Amino acid sequence: MARRIGILGGTFNPVHIAHLRGALEVAEFMGLDELRLIPSARPPHRQAPQVTAEQRLAMVELAAAGEPLLAVDDRELKRDKPSFTYDTLESVRGELAADDQLFLLLGWDAFCGLPTWHRWQELLTHCHLLVLQRPDADSEAPEELRDLVAARSVHDPLGLAGPGGQISFIWQTPLAVSATQIRQLLADGRSVRFLVPDAVLAYIHAHGLYRAHTVS
Ligand code: ATP
Repeated sequence: MARRIGILGGTFNPVHIAHLRGALEVAEFMGLDELRLIPSARPPHRQAPQVTAEQRLAMVELAAAGEPLLAVDDRELKRDKPSFTYDTLESVRGELAADDQLFLLLGWDAFCGLPTWHRWQELLTHCHLLVLQRPDADSEAPEELRDLVAARSVHDPLGLAGPGGQISFIWQTPLAVSATQIRQLLADGRSVRFLVPDAVLAYIHAHGLYRAHTVS
């Protein structure tokens, strides 16, 4: 039987409960067999220099441990150069059966920025796009995306058929948590307990991450 695999990429600097709840809710709603968290290799310019890609990966692994629907995929860190999403999808697709379904999860903001991505028009050859839309959002897709949305969108995300090629929107209220907020709290010497899993909190403290004197 065809498998249903979801992908959520991100910096995960650090991974937090909104990533995890969002991923789990989408995985359950969509009936996915697995949702893969894929940390990106490229450090954003704002990243504290002492937080390595390996440490971000270690935190994602701690966060996902014990949750059968969540898996961690480290392929972007194994490459010697930053991966484009297209390359990651192509590589994941190469490991799946031809009829397996692949769903790339994208926040609305990321979706709107799609036309700037490497080979963006070909992403759909490898996957479906699941766009996470806020229920209160009323913005329109940029001009460049309107034809694509008109041609490829499916109203019901559960109606996405075949291995890839379509777009659907999931309306989900995001938790008001961001990695930026967490880094700031830690830099200010405040607690981030309950914003990240306990195991991630312990890792942050054990490695002295995101402390004020080292945060850029
Ligand atoms: P930063 O604050 O450093 O920009 P972030 O918290 O937005 O980080 P990312 O690693 O950039 O985290 O996000 C990875 C993915 O998770 C993105 O697709 C992003 O849209 C999604 N995401 C981030 N925060 C939330 C949230 N609060 N609710 C739902 N999805 C989120």
